[in-house]
Amino acid sequence: MDEGFVTLTIPRKKRVALIAHDSKKQALVDWCAQHETVLQRHGLCGTGTTARLISEATGLMVKGFLSGPLGGDQQIGAKIAEGLIDLVIFFCDPLTAQPHDPDVKALLRIGQVYDIPIATNRATADFLVASPWMELPYDHQVQDFQQAHLRSVGVKD
Ligand code: PGA
Repeated sequence: MDEGFVTLTIPRKKRVALIAHDSKKQALVDWCAQHETVLQRHGLCGTGTTARLISEATGLMVKGFLSGPLGGDQQIGAKIAEGLIDLVIFFCDPLTAQPHDPDVKALLRIGQVYDIPIATNRATADFLVASPWMELPYDHQVQDFQQAHLRSVGVKD
């Protein structure tokens, strides 16, 4: 393993965040209904409106954060940084300008930093949900920020 990285484990039971832009909400609700059997084995959360629509339309319990444009994407990004979200299904609308585009970018970036699986369209979501790793723990290498910080302030070489 590279120095400067630590091994973290995404647990068997994953904490999954569900987000959909407005024009994609029905598609995500349909996708969740289609994959309800798999999704119900995991812990689910999502941005406010998306979480409510999925909970109302399916038998799934989805904990809601704030609505995306009001800070929900930032809340989910913060949970990724805290190690409390393991996987993101985000049905993005690539054809419509979003008022909270900086928040969306920040969420995607922090997911990359922590090597979190993120699906931003339906095909990727289908691949993810069919992965054997959905039912197994998964070890991955994540930047050891404590080490990086100590090095950056000259405490460690
Ligand atoms: P919403 O947020 O589920 O509250 O609509 C989604 C988004 O980020 O646009």
